[in-house]
Amino acid sequence: AKQEGKNRYRFFAPEINAQASERLFMANSLRAALDRDELKLVFQPCMDLATLEVAGVEALVRWEHPQKGTILPSRFISLAEESGLIEPIGEWVLREAARRVREWKNAGIFAGRVAVNLSPRQFRRSDLASRLLAMLDEAGLAPSDLEFEVTEGMVMEHPERAVVVLTELVEAGVSISIDDFGTGYSSLAYLKRFPVHSLKIDRSFVNGLPADRNDRSLTRAVVALAKSLGLSVVAEGVEHAGQADFLRQIGCEFAQGHYFSRPLDPAALGTFLREARVQ
Ligand code: C2E
Ligand code: CA
Ligand code: CA
Ligand code: CA
Repeated sequence: AKQEGKNRYRFFAPEINAQASERLFMANSLRAALDRDELKLVFQPCMDLATLEVAGVEALVRWEHPQKGTILPSRFISLAEESGLIEPIGEWVLREAARRVREWKNAGIFAGRVAVNLSPRQFRRSDLASRLLAMLDEAGLAPSDLEFEVTEGMVMEHPERAVVVLTELVEAGVSISIDDFGTGYSSLAYLKRFPVHSLKIDRSFVNGLPADRNDRSLTRAVVALAKSLGLSVVAEGVEHAGQADFLRQIGCEFAQGHYFSRPLDPAALGTFLREARVQ
């Protein structure tokens, strides 16, 4: 079997090399992109399903490539993870999100929290909490204006350490939500111990609503679980009224998705916030 593996490796080696050099090339251009300010943030509103007010916004990173146009995070976040670039990118995302939110707060058009996605590598740093809090302070944003999104995989990698890091953040006033909830492995025992504030139901469960019986059962179960643990619950990827209606009926408090708004650039989000306030 070993022999076979070796042959197979040799057989595919040129292709692997081509892939590796493509990734190396991408990593170098990503590093340059950061220096050239080619990274941008867009913001997606998170809506209160009862009042249809904007409860918060989620910051999502984009790479505005001068030739290739907009590159989505699915094409560069894992590369940033592998190369370590996620550290400076993550810091930039936090600073930029903080700056924008401060603007909207100063303009009196936004009173919610901004949610920022953390990546596994960022989450593994033992000095995460102190670094993040120092950055917030520098950016002039209160911890209570910020929410971090982590996945089940990230917290379950080292549950004991996750409890310590999350507790440090929460004690400083930051909120924590579990992103893509239901797609990873998480232990209910730990869920009880993690100082999290909300669960975000992955859009793969929202997709089939309200027609799909399994999706109905799953979303009901997650909403019930969240309530019984005293957590709030956000549905992701809501694309039409039927989904929003069903979610409202089962007691889901918050929702995000194209039905309400696509992720918007800062200027467009400012307009959205102003209009939402007048209504
Ligand atoms: P996520 O955190 O689960 O973000 C939600 C994704 O769903 C976003 O994709 C958003 O544009 C998309 N989305 C929102 N509403 C709808 C909808 O109604 N229908 C559909 N089909 N999609 C919807 P995006 O912006 O491409 O981001 C993909 C992932 O990249 C994010 O998933 C997150 O895991 C990661 N990511 C984005 N920004 C950052 C960042 O600043 N740092 C890190 N570490 N990861 C990020
Ligand atoms: Ca997220
Ligand atoms: Ca998600
Ligand atoms: Ca995701």
